[in-house]
Amino acid sequence: MQEQFLRNRFMEHLPTTAPSRTLQHDEKKAKYYKPLPCIHFFALLFLIFVVFTLVIIIEKQLPPGLKIADEAKHPDSFIAERAYRILSNLTKIGPRTAGSFENEVVAVNILKQEIEGIIREADDHHVIEIDIQKASGAFNLEFLDGMTNVYQDMQNVIVKIGSRIASPHSLLINCHFDSVIDSPGASDDGASCAVMLEILRVLSKSTKILRHNVIFLFNGGEENFMPASHGFITQHIWAKEVRVFINLEACGAGGREVLFQAGPNHPWILETYSEEVPYPYASSLAQEIFQSGVIPGDTDYRIFRDFGNLSGLDFAWSSNGYVYHTKFDTIEQIPLGSLQRTGDNILALARGMAQGYHISDVDRYKQGNLVFFDFLGAFVVRWTMPIADIINMVSVIFSIYTIYENVKKAQYTDDIKEKQYLRKLMGCTLTALVSWILSVLATLIIAGLLTAFGRTMSWYARPLWAFFLYVIPTLLVCMATVLLHAKLFNSVS
Ligand SMILES: [Zn+2]
Repeated sequence: MQEQFLRNRFMEHLPTTAPSRTLQHDEKKAKYYKPLPCIHFFALLFLIFVVFTLVIIIEKQLPPGLKIADEAKHPDSFIAERAYRILSNLTKIGPRTAGSFENEVVAVNILKQEIEGIIREADDHHVIEIDIQKASGAFNLEFLDGMTNVYQDMQNVIVKIGSRIASPHSLLINCHFDSVIDSPGASDDGASCAVMLEILRVLSKSTKILRHNVIFLFNGGEENFMPASHGFITQHIWAKEVRVFINLEACGAGGREVLFQAGPNHPWILETYSEEVPYPYASSLAQEIFQSGVIPGDTDYRIFRDFGNLSGLDFAWSSNGYVYHTKFDTIEQIPLGSLQRTGDNILALARGMAQGYHISDVDRYKQGNLVFFDFLGAFVVRWTMPIADIINMVSVIFSIYTIYENVKKAQYTDDIKEKQYLRKLMGCTLTALVSWILSVLATLIIAGLLTAFGRTMSWYARPLWAFFLYVIPTLLVCMATVLLHAKLFNSVS
Protein backbone atom coordinates (compact mmCIF):
# COMPACT_ATOMS: atom_id res chain seq x y z
CA MET A 1 0.00 0.00 0.00
CA GLN A 2 2.75 2.33 1.09
CA GLU A 3 4.64 1.58 -2.06
CA GLN A 4 1.59 2.27 -4.20
CA PHE A 5 0.91 5.54 -2.37
CA LEU A 6 4.47 6.74 -2.91
CA ARG A 7 4.31 5.83 -6.58
CA ASN A 8 1.13 7.87 -6.93
CA ARG A 9 2.65 10.88 -5.18
CA PHE A 10 5.71 10.58 -7.41
CA MET A 11 3.52 10.51 -10.50
CA GLU A 12 1.71 13.62 -9.28
CA HIS A 13 4.98 15.52 -9.04
CA LEU A 14 6.24 14.50 -12.44
CA PRO A 15 6.41 17.47 -14.82
CA THR A 16 3.32 17.54 -16.96
CA THR A 17 3.75 16.43 -20.54
CA ALA A 18 4.19 19.04 -23.34
CA PRO A 19 0.84 20.65 -24.33
CA SER A 20 -0.89 18.58 -26.94
CA ARG A 21 -1.05 19.74 -30.59
CA THR A 22 -4.79 20.36 -30.17
CA LEU A 23 -4.23 22.75 -27.28
CA GLN A 24 -1.61 24.76 -29.20
CA HIS A 25 -3.87 24.73 -32.20
CA ASP A 26 -6.82 26.05 -30.18
CA GLU A 27 -4.72 28.84 -28.67
CA LYS A 28 -3.56 30.00 -32.13
CA LYS A 29 -7.10 29.71 -33.43
CA ALA A 30 -8.32 31.94 -30.60
CA LYS A 31 -5.55 34.43 -31.40
CA TYR A 32 -6.31 34.59 -35.13
CA TYR A 33 -10.04 34.16 -35.12
CA LYS A 34 -11.46 37.38 -33.76
CA PRO A 35 -14.71 38.02 -35.58
CA LEU A 36 -15.55 41.71 -35.94
CA PRO A 37 -18.67 42.80 -34.07
CA CYS A 38 -21.53 43.60 -36.47
CA ILE A 39 -21.39 47.28 -35.42
CA HIS A 40 -18.52 47.59 -37.95
CA PHE A 41 -20.83 46.55 -40.75
CA PHE A 42 -23.46 49.13 -39.78
CA ALA A 43 -20.78 51.82 -39.34
CA LEU A 44 -19.56 51.12 -42.88
CA LEU A 45 -23.11 51.28 -44.25
CA PHE A 46 -23.64 54.58 -42.43
CA LEU A 47 -20.38 55.99 -43.84
CA ILE A 48 -21.40 55.06 -47.40
CA PHE A 49 -24.80 56.66 -46.82
CA VAL A 50 -23.21 59.90 -45.50
CA VAL A 51 -20.77 60.13 -48.45
CA PHE A 52 -23.55 59.51 -51.00
CA THR A 53 -25.80 62.12 -49.36
CA LEU A 54 -22.94 64.65 -49.34
CA VAL A 55 -22.19 64.00 -53.01
CA ILE A 56 -25.86 64.48 -53.95
CA ILE A 57 -26.10 67.72 -51.91
CA ILE A 58 -22.87 69.06 -53.47
CA GLU A 59 -24.11 68.07 -56.94
CA LYS A 60 -27.11 70.37 -56.45
CA GLN A 61 -25.12 73.29 -55.01
CA LEU A 62 -24.85 76.29 -57.31
CA PRO A 63 -23.75 79.83 -56.44
CA PRO A 64 -26.43 82.55 -56.58
CA GLY A 65 -26.52 84.10 -60.06
CA LEU A 66 -25.44 87.76 -60.08
CA LYS A 67 -27.88 90.26 -61.59
CA ILE A 68 -26.98 93.36 -63.62
CA ALA A 69 -28.15 95.41 -60.60
CA ASP A 70 -25.39 93.76 -58.52
CA GLU A 71 -22.65 94.98 -60.85
CA ALA A 72 -21.68 98.06 -58.81
CA LYS A 73 -21.18 95.88 -55.74
CA HIS A 74 -19.24 93.26 -57.75
CA PRO A 75 -16.91 95.04 -60.14
CA ASP A 76 -14.66 92.78 -62.21
CA SER A 77 -17.12 89.91 -61.69
CA PHE A 78 -19.00 87.67 -64.04
CA ILE A 79 -22.67 88.71 -64.24
CA ALA A 80 -24.83 85.66 -64.97
CA GLU A 81 -27.93 87.69 -65.91
CA ARG A 82 -26.09 89.30 -68.81
CA ALA A 83 -24.97 85.91 -70.13
CA TYR A 84 -28.57 84.70 -69.74
CA ARG A 85 -29.85 87.57 -71.92
CA ILE A 86 -27.35 86.77 -74.69
CA LEU A 87 -28.30 83.10 -74.49
CA SER A 88 -31.97 84.03 -74.72
CA ASN A 89 -31.29 85.95 -77.97
CA LEU A 90 -29.31 83.05 -79.40
CA THR A 91 -31.89 80.37 -78.57
CA LYS A 92 -34.77 82.50 -79.89
CA ILE A 93 -33.27 81.90 -83.36
CA GLY A 94 -34.14 78.21 -82.96
CA PRO A 95 -31.99 75.41 -84.42
CA ARG A 96 -28.75 76.68 -85.94
CA THR A 97 -27.35 73.96 -88.17
CA ALA A 98 -24.10 74.78 -89.96
CA GLY A 99 -24.84 76.17 -93.42
CA SER A 100 -28.36 77.40 -92.52
CA PHE A 101 -29.41 81.07 -92.71
CA GLU A 102 -30.05 80.98 -88.94
CA ASN A 103 -26.47 79.92 -88.23
CA GLU A 104 -24.49 81.71 -90.92
CA VAL A 105 -26.35 85.06 -90.88
CA VAL A 106 -28.58 85.53 -87.80
CA ALA A 107 -26.34 83.95 -85.17
CA VAL A 108 -23.19 85.54 -86.61
CA ASN A 109 -24.91 88.98 -86.53
CA ILE A 110 -25.93 88.56 -82.88
CA LEU A 111 -22.37 87.63 -81.92
CA LYS A 112 -20.91 90.52 -83.95
CA GLN A 113 -23.29 93.06 -82.37
CA GLU A 114 -22.46 91.83 -78.86
CA ILE A 115 -18.71 91.98 -79.54
CA GLU A 116 -18.89 95.44 -81.12
CA GLY A 117 -20.80 96.67 -78.06
CA ILE A 118 -18.08 95.24 -75.79
CA ILE A 119 -15.33 96.90 -77.87
CA ARG A 120 -17.09 100.29 -77.59
CA GLU A 121 -17.15 100.10 -73.78
CA ALA A 122 -13.71 98.57 -73.29
CA ASP A 123 -11.04 100.14 -71.13
CA ASP A 124 -8.21 101.94 -72.96
CA HIS A 125 -5.59 99.51 -71.62
CA HIS A 126 -6.76 96.81 -74.02
CA VAL A 127 -6.53 96.24 -77.74
CA ILE A 128 -9.46 94.20 -79.07
CA GLU A 129 -9.65 92.88 -82.63
CA ILE A 130 -12.44 90.94 -84.32
CA ASP A 131 -12.21 88.74 -87.37
CA ILE A 132 -14.77 86.68 -89.27
CA GLN A 133 -13.08 83.72 -90.88
CA LYS A 134 -14.47 81.57 -93.70
CA ALA A 135 -12.47 78.39 -93.95
CA SER A 136 -12.47 75.47 -96.38
CA GLY A 137 -10.49 72.25 -96.08
CA ALA A 138 -10.47 68.53 -95.37
CA PHE A 139 -9.09 66.21 -92.72
CA ASN A 140 -9.14 62.60 -91.58
CA LEU A 141 -10.79 61.61 -88.33
CA GLU A 142 -10.05 58.44 -86.41
CA PHE A 143 -13.63 58.48 -85.23
CA LEU A 144 -16.09 55.57 -85.39
CA ASP A 145 -14.63 53.59 -88.35
CA GLY A 146 -12.55 56.48 -89.66
CA MET A 147 -13.71 59.10 -92.11
CA THR A 148 -12.59 62.11 -94.14
CA ASN A 149 -14.41 65.35 -93.40
CA VAL A 150 -14.55 67.88 -96.24
CA TYR A 151 -15.85 71.39 -95.57
CA GLN A 152 -16.33 74.68 -97.37
CA ASP A 153 -16.86 78.24 -96.06
CA MET A 154 -17.19 77.29 -92.39
CA GLN A 155 -17.57 80.52 -90.41
CA ASN A 156 -15.71 81.45 -87.26
CA VAL A 157 -16.21 84.62 -85.22
CA ILE A 158 -12.88 85.32 -83.54
CA VAL A 159 -11.94 88.01 -81.02
CA LYS A 160 -8.50 88.74 -79.62
CA ILE A 161 -7.92 90.84 -76.52
CA GLY A 162 -4.46 91.87 -75.37
CA SER A 163 -2.50 94.76 -73.93
CA ARG A 164 -1.01 97.69 -75.86
CA ILE A 165 2.39 95.98 -75.53
CA ALA A 166 1.60 93.02 -77.77
CA SER A 167 2.45 89.52 -76.52
CA PRO A 168 3.35 86.79 -79.07
CA HIS A 169 1.56 84.21 -76.86
CA SER A 170 -2.16 83.54 -76.52
CA LEU A 171 -4.68 81.49 -74.59
CA LEU A 172 -7.53 80.17 -76.75
CA ILE A 173 -11.08 79.76 -75.38
CA ASN A 174 -13.46 77.90 -77.69
CA CYS A 175 -17.21 77.24 -78.03
CA HIS A 176 -19.51 76.50 -80.97
CA PHE A 177 -22.67 78.42 -81.82
CA ASP A 178 -24.16 75.88 -84.24
CA SER A 179 -26.61 73.24 -83.01
CA VAL A 180 -27.99 69.90 -84.19
CA ILE A 181 -31.16 69.82 -86.31
CA ASP A 182 -34.34 70.38 -84.24
CA SER A 183 -32.51 71.59 -81.13
CA PRO A 184 -32.33 75.19 -79.92
CA GLY A 185 -28.87 74.21 -78.59
CA ALA A 186 -29.14 76.17 -75.34
CA SER A 187 -26.65 74.10 -73.33
CA ASP A 188 -24.93 72.60 -76.39
CA ASP A 189 -23.36 75.02 -76.90
CA GLY A 190 -25.12 78.42 -76.84
CA ALA A 191 -24.54 78.80 -73.09
CA SER A 192 -20.77 78.51 -73.55
CA CYS A 193 -20.87 81.29 -76.19
CA ALA A 194 -22.86 83.48 -73.76
CA VAL A 195 -20.40 82.71 -70.94
CA MET A 196 -17.44 83.57 -73.19
CA LEU A 197 -18.99 86.89 -74.27
CA GLU A 198 -19.52 87.86 -70.64
CA ILE A 199 -15.93 86.87 -69.77
CA LEU A 200 -14.71 89.00 -72.71
CA ARG A 201 -16.75 91.93 -71.38
CA VAL A 202 -15.35 91.58 -67.84
CA LEU A 203 -11.74 91.36 -69.11
CA SER A 204 -12.23 94.32 -71.47
CA LYS A 205 -13.75 96.60 -68.80
CA SER A 206 -11.13 95.75 -66.22
CA THR A 207 -8.17 98.09 -65.73
CA LYS A 208 -5.92 95.06 -65.16
CA ILE A 209 -3.52 94.75 -68.10
CA LEU A 210 -3.31 91.28 -69.64
CA ARG A 211 0.20 89.82 -69.75
CA HIS A 212 -0.74 87.57 -72.71
CA ASN A 213 -3.58 87.65 -75.23
CA VAL A 214 -6.85 85.77 -74.91
CA ILE A 215 -8.41 84.60 -78.19
CA PHE A 216 -12.15 83.85 -78.09
CA LEU A 217 -13.18 81.45 -80.86
CA PHE A 218 -16.94 81.22 -81.51
CA ASN A 219 -16.89 78.44 -84.09
CA GLY A 220 -19.78 77.94 -86.47
CA GLY A 221 -19.57 74.20 -87.11
CA GLU A 222 -18.91 71.56 -84.46
CA GLU A 223 -21.87 69.24 -84.75
CA ASN A 224 -20.81 67.98 -88.22
CA PHE A 225 -17.55 66.55 -86.86
CA MET A 226 -15.72 69.72 -85.92
CA PRO A 227 -14.71 71.33 -89.23
CA ALA A 228 -14.79 74.97 -87.99
CA SER A 229 -12.21 74.49 -85.22
CA HIS A 230 -10.04 72.64 -87.77
CA GLY A 231 -10.37 75.62 -90.11
CA PHE A 232 -9.19 77.95 -87.35
CA ILE A 233 -6.34 75.95 -85.91
CA THR A 234 -4.83 74.98 -89.30
CA GLN A 235 -5.43 78.19 -91.26
CA HIS A 236 -6.01 81.30 -89.17
CA ILE A 237 -3.10 83.67 -88.65
CA TRP A 238 -3.74 83.91 -84.87
CA ALA A 239 -3.60 80.12 -84.46
CA LYS A 240 0.23 80.23 -84.53
CA GLU A 241 0.35 82.18 -81.28
CA VAL A 242 -1.96 79.84 -79.31
CA ARG A 243 -0.04 78.07 -76.54
CA VAL A 244 -2.87 76.49 -74.54
CA PHE A 245 -6.64 76.19 -74.88
CA ILE A 246 -9.89 75.85 -72.94
CA ASN A 247 -12.81 74.10 -74.64
CA LEU A 248 -16.37 74.60 -73.39
CA GLU A 249 -18.96 71.96 -74.26
CA ALA A 250 -22.12 70.24 -73.03
CA CYS A 251 -23.49 66.70 -73.07
CA GLY A 252 -26.32 67.64 -70.72
CA ALA A 253 -28.00 70.79 -69.47
CA GLY A 254 -27.21 73.05 -66.53
CA GLY A 255 -25.62 71.70 -63.36
CA ARG A 256 -21.89 71.92 -62.82
CA GLU A 257 -19.28 71.87 -65.58
CA VAL A 258 -16.91 68.95 -65.18
CA LEU A 259 -13.27 69.06 -66.23
CA PHE A 260 -13.09 65.75 -68.08
CA GLN A 261 -9.98 66.04 -70.24
CA ALA A 262 -6.65 67.67 -69.41
CA GLY A 263 -3.30 67.65 -71.20
CA PRO A 264 -1.73 65.83 -72.90
CA ASN A 265 1.28 66.45 -70.67
CA HIS A 266 1.76 69.99 -69.32
CA PRO A 267 0.84 69.37 -65.66
CA TRP A 268 0.99 73.15 -65.02
CA ILE A 269 -2.38 73.52 -66.80
CA LEU A 270 -4.15 71.37 -64.21
CA GLU A 271 -2.17 73.02 -61.44
CA THR A 272 -3.40 76.44 -62.61
CA TYR A 273 -6.95 75.04 -62.63
CA SER A 274 -6.69 73.71 -59.08
CA GLU A 275 -5.13 76.92 -57.80
CA GLU A 276 -7.45 79.39 -59.52
CA VAL A 277 -11.02 78.10 -59.81
CA PRO A 278 -13.41 78.73 -56.93
CA TYR A 279 -15.59 75.63 -57.59
CA PRO A 280 -13.46 72.69 -58.75
CA TYR A 281 -15.11 69.61 -60.25
CA ALA A 282 -12.70 67.35 -62.11
CA SER A 283 -12.19 63.68 -62.87
CA SER A 284 -9.42 61.84 -64.69
CA LEU A 285 -11.68 58.77 -64.51
CA ALA A 286 -14.04 60.61 -66.88
CA GLN A 287 -11.00 61.29 -69.08
CA GLU A 288 -10.15 57.56 -69.17
CA ILE A 289 -13.74 56.65 -70.09
CA PHE A 290 -14.01 59.38 -72.75
CA GLN A 291 -10.63 58.65 -74.34
CA SER A 292 -11.38 54.88 -74.39
CA GLY A 293 -13.95 55.61 -77.11
CA VAL A 294 -16.89 54.09 -75.18
CA ILE A 295 -18.83 57.36 -75.49
CA PRO A 296 -19.81 57.89 -79.14
CA GLY A 297 -18.94 61.59 -79.27
CA ASP A 298 -16.06 63.96 -79.58
CA THR A 299 -15.22 67.60 -79.01
CA ASP A 300 -13.03 70.30 -80.52
CA TYR A 301 -10.46 69.28 -77.88
CA ARG A 302 -9.40 66.48 -80.25
CA ILE A 303 -8.93 68.93 -83.14
CA PHE A 304 -6.75 71.35 -81.15
CA ARG A 305 -4.74 68.46 -79.72
CA ASP A 306 -4.26 66.47 -82.94
CA PHE A 307 -4.07 69.22 -85.58
CA GLY A 308 -2.78 72.12 -83.49
CA ASN A 309 -0.38 70.00 -81.39
CA LEU A 310 -1.72 71.84 -78.34
CA SER A 311 -2.58 70.94 -74.76
CA GLY A 312 -5.57 72.22 -72.89
CA LEU A 313 -8.66 71.57 -70.82
CA ASP A 314 -12.07 70.23 -71.85
CA PHE A 315 -15.16 71.14 -69.84
CA ALA A 316 -18.78 70.03 -70.22
CA TRP A 317 -22.10 70.32 -68.46
CA SER A 318 -23.24 66.75 -67.95
CA SER A 319 -26.37 66.81 -65.74
CA ASN A 320 -29.76 66.04 -67.32
CA GLY A 321 -28.08 64.28 -70.22
CA TYR A 322 -31.45 63.17 -71.65
CA VAL A 323 -32.01 66.64 -73.19
CA TYR A 324 -28.68 66.50 -75.07
CA HIS A 325 -29.17 66.88 -78.84
CA THR A 326 -32.98 67.05 -78.53
CA LYS A 327 -35.61 69.79 -78.78
CA PHE A 328 -35.63 69.87 -74.96
CA ASP A 329 -32.18 71.52 -74.82
CA THR A 330 -33.85 74.86 -74.02
CA ILE A 331 -32.89 77.89 -71.93
CA GLU A 332 -35.43 76.82 -69.27
CA GLN A 333 -33.11 73.92 -68.39
CA ILE A 334 -30.35 76.34 -67.38
CA PRO A 335 -30.47 77.95 -63.94
CA LEU A 336 -28.70 81.28 -63.48
CA GLY A 337 -26.43 79.56 -60.93
CA SER A 338 -25.02 77.22 -63.59
CA LEU A 339 -23.98 80.16 -65.76
CA GLN A 340 -22.53 81.93 -62.69
CA ARG A 341 -20.55 78.90 -61.63
CA THR A 342 -19.07 78.21 -65.07
CA GLY A 343 -18.47 81.93 -65.62
CA ASP A 344 -16.66 82.39 -62.29
CA ASN A 345 -14.51 79.30 -62.91
CA ILE A 346 -13.52 80.03 -66.51
CA LEU A 347 -12.92 83.74 -65.81
CA ALA A 348 -10.58 82.86 -62.92
CA LEU A 349 -8.85 80.21 -65.03
CA ALA A 350 -8.44 82.53 -68.04
CA ARG A 351 -6.96 85.23 -65.81
CA GLY A 352 -4.64 82.70 -64.13
CA MET A 353 -3.37 81.43 -67.49
CA ALA A 354 -3.12 84.79 -69.29
CA GLN A 355 -1.31 86.41 -66.34
CA GLY A 356 0.91 83.40 -65.64
CA TYR A 357 4.47 82.84 -66.82
CA HIS A 358 4.00 79.34 -68.26
CA ILE A 359 2.54 80.21 -71.66
CA SER A 360 5.50 82.34 -72.67
CA ASP A 361 7.63 79.16 -72.70
CA VAL A 362 5.29 76.15 -72.73
CA ASP A 363 7.91 73.66 -73.97
CA ARG A 364 9.83 74.13 -70.75
CA TYR A 365 6.89 72.91 -68.65
CA LYS A 366 5.82 70.10 -70.94
CA GLN A 367 6.65 66.96 -69.01
CA GLY A 368 4.24 64.63 -67.28
CA ASN A 369 0.58 63.73 -67.05
CA LEU A 370 -1.41 63.85 -63.84
CA VAL A 371 -4.05 61.71 -62.18
CA PHE A 372 -6.65 64.13 -60.83
CA PHE A 373 -10.02 64.34 -59.12
CA ASP A 374 -11.78 66.80 -56.87
CA PHE A 375 -12.57 65.99 -53.24
CA LEU A 376 -16.25 66.76 -52.63
CA GLY A 377 -15.91 69.92 -54.73
CA ALA A 378 -13.57 71.49 -52.16
CA PHE A 379 -10.16 71.03 -53.79
CA VAL A 380 -8.39 69.04 -56.49
CA VAL A 381 -6.27 66.03 -55.56
CA ARG A 382 -3.57 65.35 -58.12
CA TRP A 383 -0.41 63.31 -58.47
CA THR A 384 2.09 62.44 -61.19
CA MET A 385 2.14 59.18 -63.17
CA PRO A 386 5.27 57.81 -61.39
CA ILE A 387 3.43 58.29 -58.06
CA ALA A 388 0.35 56.61 -59.59
CA ASP A 389 2.58 53.64 -60.53
CA ILE A 390 3.95 53.47 -56.97
CA ILE A 391 0.39 53.52 -55.54
CA ASN A 392 -0.60 50.70 -57.92
CA MET A 393 2.47 48.63 -57.03
CA VAL A 394 1.88 49.10 -53.29
CA SER A 395 -1.73 47.91 -53.75
CA VAL A 396 -0.53 44.79 -55.58
CA ILE A 397 2.12 44.04 -52.92
CA PHE A 398 -0.44 44.58 -50.15
CA SER A 399 -2.89 42.21 -51.87
CA ILE A 400 -0.22 39.50 -52.17
CA TYR A 401 0.72 40.00 -48.50
CA THR A 402 -2.95 39.65 -47.53
CA ILE A 403 -3.12 36.31 -49.34
CA TYR A 404 0.05 35.18 -47.57
CA GLU A 405 -1.34 36.15 -44.15
CA ASN A 406 -4.63 34.43 -44.91
CA VAL A 407 -2.87 31.22 -45.95
CA LYS A 408 -1.04 31.30 -42.61
CA LYS A 409 -4.23 31.89 -40.64
CA ALA A 410 -6.34 29.41 -42.58
CA GLN A 411 -4.70 26.36 -41.03
CA TYR A 412 -5.87 27.52 -37.62
CA THR A 413 -9.21 29.14 -38.40
CA ASP A 414 -10.46 26.75 -41.09
CA ASP A 415 -8.21 23.76 -40.31
CA ILE A 416 -6.86 23.62 -43.87
CA LYS A 417 -3.37 23.48 -45.29
CA GLU A 418 -1.73 25.97 -47.68
CA LYS A 419 -2.47 23.96 -50.81
CA GLN A 420 -6.10 23.54 -49.86
CA TYR A 421 -6.41 27.23 -49.09
CA LEU A 422 -4.90 28.27 -52.43
CA ARG A 423 -7.24 25.88 -54.23
CA LYS A 424 -10.17 27.45 -52.38
CA LEU A 425 -8.90 30.93 -53.25
CA MET A 426 -8.69 30.03 -56.95
CA GLY A 427 -12.21 28.61 -56.77
CA CYS A 428 -13.55 31.80 -55.19
CA THR A 429 -11.75 34.02 -57.71
CA LEU A 430 -13.19 31.98 -60.56
CA THR A 431 -16.65 32.22 -59.00
CA ALA A 432 -16.29 36.02 -58.76
CA LEU A 433 -15.29 36.20 -62.44
CA VAL A 434 -18.19 33.97 -63.48
CA SER A 435 -20.60 36.11 -61.39
CA TRP A 436 -19.38 39.26 -63.19
CA ILE A 437 -19.84 37.68 -66.61
CA LEU A 438 -23.33 36.47 -65.65
CA SER A 439 -24.31 39.90 -64.30
CA VAL A 440 -23.14 41.56 -67.55
CA LEU A 441 -25.27 39.04 -69.46
CA ALA A 442 -28.26 39.79 -67.18
CA THR A 443 -27.98 43.56 -67.78
CA LEU A 444 -27.64 42.96 -71.53
CA ILE A 445 -30.83 40.88 -71.48
CA ILE A 446 -32.67 43.64 -69.55
CA ALA A 447 -31.39 46.32 -71.98
CA GLY A 448 -32.42 44.07 -74.90
CA LEU A 449 -35.92 43.62 -73.43
CA LEU A 450 -36.30 47.41 -72.90
CA THR A 451 -35.27 47.99 -76.52
CA ALA A 452 -37.67 45.27 -77.73
CA PHE A 453 -40.53 47.01 -75.90
CA GLY A 454 -39.55 50.39 -77.39
CA ARG A 455 -38.31 51.73 -74.03
CA THR A 456 -34.61 52.27 -74.79
CA MET A 457 -32.91 54.26 -72.01
CA SER A 458 -36.29 55.05 -70.46
CA TRP A 459 -34.49 55.27 -67.10
CA TYR A 460 -32.33 58.20 -68.26
CA ALA A 461 -34.73 60.93 -67.11
CA ARG A 462 -35.18 59.23 -63.71
CA PRO A 463 -31.83 57.80 -62.62
CA LEU A 464 -33.45 55.96 -59.66
CA TRP A 465 -35.03 53.50 -62.13
CA ALA A 466 -31.57 52.41 -63.19
CA PHE A 467 -31.11 51.19 -59.59
CA PHE A 468 -34.06 48.78 -59.82
CA LEU A 469 -33.51 47.85 -63.48
CA TYR A 470 -29.78 47.22 -63.35
CA VAL A 471 -28.18 47.53 -59.88
CA ILE A 472 -30.53 45.10 -58.06
CA PRO A 473 -30.39 42.37 -60.78
CA THR A 474 -26.59 42.70 -60.89
CA LEU A 475 -26.33 42.23 -57.13
CA LEU A 476 -28.81 39.33 -57.19
CA VAL A 477 -26.94 37.47 -59.94
CA CYS A 478 -23.61 37.95 -58.14
CA MET A 479 -25.03 36.77 -54.81
CA ALA A 480 -26.81 33.78 -56.37
CA THR A 481 -23.57 32.65 -58.07
CA VAL A 482 -21.62 32.90 -54.81
CA LEU A 483 -24.35 31.02 -52.88
CA LEU A 484 -24.45 28.28 -55.50
CA HIS A 485 -20.67 27.93 -55.31
CA ALA A 486 -20.81 27.70 -51.51
CA LYS A 487 -23.55 25.05 -51.65
CA LEU A 488 -21.72 22.93 -54.21
CA PHE A 489 -18.19 23.10 -52.82
CA ASN A 490 -18.39 23.71 -49.08
CA SER A 491 -18.80 20.03 -48.27
CA VAL A 492 -15.56 19.19 -50.15
CA SER A 493 -13.35 21.12 -47.74
ZN1 LIG B 1 -21.44 70.55 -78.57
